[in-house]
Amino acid sequence: MDSSSAPINGIRRVPPPVNDPIRSYAPGSPEKVELKRRLATMSGDCPEIPVVVGGKAIHTGELTDVRSPHDHQHVIARFHRARPEDVLAAIAAGAEAQKEWASWRWEDRATVMLRAAELLSTTWRSTLNAATMLGQSKTVYQSEIDAACEMTDFFRFNAHFAQELYTEQPVSAPGMWNQTDYRPLEGFVYAVSPFNFTAIGGNLTSAPALMGNVVLWKPAGTAVLSSWYMHQLMTEAGLPPGVINFLPGNAAAISDVALSHRDLAGVHFTGSNEVFNSMWETIGRNMGRYRSYPRIVGETGGKDFIVAHPSADPRAVAVAIVRGGFEYQGQKCSAASRAYIPKSLWKATLAYAQEMIADIRMGDVADFRNFMGAVIDKKSFTSISEYLADAGKNAKVLAGGKANSEKGWFVEPTLVQTEDPSYRLLCEEIFGPVMTCYVYDDAKWLDTLKLVDSTSPYALTGAVFSRDRKAILEAHTALRNAAGNFYVNDKPTGAVVGQQPFGGARGSGTNDKAGSRMNLMRWVSARTIKETFVPPTEYRYPFMDEE
Ligand code: NAD
Repeated sequence: MDSSSAPINGIRRVPPPVNDPIRSYAPGSPEKVELKRRLATMSGDCPEIPVVVGGKAIHTGELTDVRSPHDHQHVIARFHRARPEDVLAAIAAGAEAQKEWASWRWEDRATVMLRAAELLSTTWRSTLNAATMLGQSKTVYQSEIDAACEMTDFFRFNAHFAQELYTEQPVSAPGMWNQTDYRPLEGFVYAVSPFNFTAIGGNLTSAPALMGNVVLWKPAGTAVLSSWYMHQLMTEAGLPPGVINFLPGNAAAISDVALSHRDLAGVHFTGSNEVFNSMWETIGRNMGRYRSYPRIVGETGGKDFIVAHPSADPRAVAVAIVRGGFEYQGQKCSAASRAYIPKSLWKATLAYAQEMIADIRMGDVADFRNFMGAVIDKKSFTSISEYLADAGKNAKVLAGGKANSEKGWFVEPTLVQTEDPSYRLLCEEIFGPVMTCYVYDDAKWLDTLKLVDSTSPYALTGAVFSRDRKAILEAHTALRNAAGNFYVNDKPTGAVVGQQPFGGARGSGTNDKAGSRMNLMRWVSARTIKETFVPPTEYRYPFMDEE
């Protein structure tokens, strides 16, 4: 008996998705009580995280510590690093698993994802939030909108978008039935995730899996704890062994094996440009080896802007600077890190921003009064500190500017002003809480838009603030290619699945919009089928009967 698909006749419909509501964690709320309890147990725990291949845990004995960024002496987990032989075993396990997984009806695969959403939204919520807070130093709110809400949304919306995609079928002339079979790719998808969003790791893996693919997952070393819980959650939801294999460890060593393998069918990456470019180059060098042309999908860096028109509300601009620039310590790919303010608004905008910055508390994220935690690790702390030193010498530091690594990797929310429009802090991705402002003459609005467009190689997110419709239209035109996610009178962060599909162009990536049908299309290879009901039995055409 074939048990690979449910014996159900009917055109099944995915329940219409809605965004998971953000919980408040207000004093006394049940979610706060539960999360505090989970934070306490997880803090006292130090799990040994294995490599997982074909559903089996492998303890390689090569261990790396995972530390809490806001308390770097606190080891919260240790993980076993995958060896080259584990990568090969994972590729073989994936090939075996795909035989059954790809033959399931898509509705049955979608059911696994919908069950994962439900578990995450309920019983697993505090676990994923606590792991993200402890391991990646997110405040409760930042964790809630990432690990809980965004991931739940990815699971639910992707199932809905898969249904839309599969529903797209060709027309048929009389006497035939044309069909499209959205096949999974032949081979495995290599998913490499960044540290800064728990939901990104979950989506880079589950989106291709939903479409019938098998995946090798290389999570970021600093986010292994939350990634491991995410993998366990999907397993509990019913994901068969071998569909997503979990390979923490040395990125270059794992990539060496994965990227040179004949069965590499796709790369699903989010992270920095340098790493994405190096992966693309490796694939280019190996082109003769692959069975198919690998799909290469990568969302990379940003140098996201806020540009205010003289008609803007300076208080709204200041809030966008503070929330957009400093939430999660400026470590969102969408974080605002350069602002262009007209002279007439500068004094007021600066005063509001300084007042808000003075009010910001930073520290251990288990203390819910804190608005900011620490930056992810020593490497990041050192690199941001160098930018602060540069600002101290070559620009004006108007708030913050200091960093302290005694207990954790803490960097103050920092506001810098420069008069040089090509100053490096206006051009380079810093990935920390550093906002650089450039004040322009009110009369130079159109020139400033050109400057915003041409200053950095990235084009991820950006925001315009204005109460003048003509100026908004001018910004739309001048900045059309400067951001894949463009905001009008809002901060450039906080994209919601299903509402603002996310991704940028130029140096910011391939813009395949995570959590949308556009992304899912990359993980299928369409097979067109034409079936003729009664095939012709005469080879001659009527025109040949000419007299
Ligand atoms: P990163 O590039 O340092 O690491 C990303 C992943 O690549 C990690 O898993 C890392 O271990 C792996 N990696 C490192 N070297 C590798 C190699 N040689 N071969 C293969 N893999 C390798 O990035 P990060 O610090 O984790 O994340 C921050 C970056 O991610 C920023 O540039 C940010 O803008 C970007 N980002 C972009 C988006 C987006 O949607 N555009 C979203 C989140 C983060």
